[in-house]
Amino acid sequence: MARRATSYKVGWLGFTAVVVAGLVGLVMFQPWTTNAESNSSTQTQFAADRPKPVQPVEFDGKRAMEYLEAICKIGPRISGSEGMRKQKELIEAHFTKLGGKVSYQRFTAQQKSRKKPVEMANMIISYHSERTRRVILCAHYDTRPIADQEPNPRRWEEPFLSANDGGSGVAFLMEMAHHMKDLELSVGVDFVLFDGEEYIFDPKRDEYFFGSKHFGKEYLKNRKKMTYTGAILLDMIAGKGATFPIEQNSWMYASRLCKEVWDIAAELKCTAFEEKLSPYSVEDDHLPLNRAGIPAIDIIDFDYPHWHRLTDLPKNCSPEPMIQVAKVCSVWLQRAR
Ligand SMILES: [Zn+2]
Repeated sequence: MARRATSYKVGWLGFTAVVVAGLVGLVMFQPWTTNAESNSSTQTQFAADRPKPVQPVEFDGKRAMEYLEAICKIGPRISGSEGMRKQKELIEAHFTKLGGKVSYQRFTAQQKSRKKPVEMANMIISYHSERTRRVILCAHYDTRPIADQEPNPRRWEEPFLSANDGGSGVAFLMEMAHHMKDLELSVGVDFVLFDGEEYIFDPKRDEYFFGSKHFGKEYLKNRKKMTYTGAILLDMIAGKGATFPIEQNSWMYASRLCKEVWDIAAELKCTAFEEKLSPYSVEDDHLPLNRAGIPAIDIIDFDYPHWHRLTDLPKNCSPEPMIQVAKVCSVWLQRAR
């Protein structure tokens, strides 16, 4: 995760978020409950409109944790570093072996606080690459150079493994890759791993989201050839006891997609997904996607106590929330049109 703010601290974006999301939330949440109740009483009448019954995947949480440990064993995976190079090698081989088509969007980024530019690359793993209607599951795969929530600033530059923040999304998609062949899909699917989300040395001055901004720009160039109908961003999904209330910017920019996803979670009794608006908004990789016209939401846990600390380690992560995210995402992918 890049930047978290309670809504009143983030300028117009957050202010609008709290006003709009709060109002819309108030209006929407009540009918939402009513709809769920009335659905059961009008089941026969509207059977044709009901979502197709599809099975969630049998996500192997133990294997996902092994992937998380393997990634962290590389060490920090900072953009442009040797660790990032090793990670790319490991996961490219993994996704290719399991039938994904791997490609890169390479670009050069100049960070304000750095003298030299750095080579970055988003990794895209495609399924049914010929299909022009597509959806995205995405996460960032770079790690932050400094652990700047560590209480002692003298420790900020120690090697920071960032297991949940940067590792969990990668490990999750590595496990999901085993199940892609079993899904009944009407659309193409891209797993997108963004580079340069956390390439921050000076949190006040530096630029965030190099990878997702580049991805949005490239998408706008290719708009006529294909369409992304939705994107789910996964950030910090493996913290022990993680919960996922609806992040405010997701609700503001892509409320329909939020409703789809949290409705699926309710159907599947995935209780980590809380049907309420989070008190937080976050600037994250979903914002550049929304700006490029892709409805995009962020599934994110705001209460992880090891965020941007050296203790963000696999031992403080758990497979349980990832299993719930996998159930929800796999049903969403199969219902996508
Ligand atoms: Zn972060």
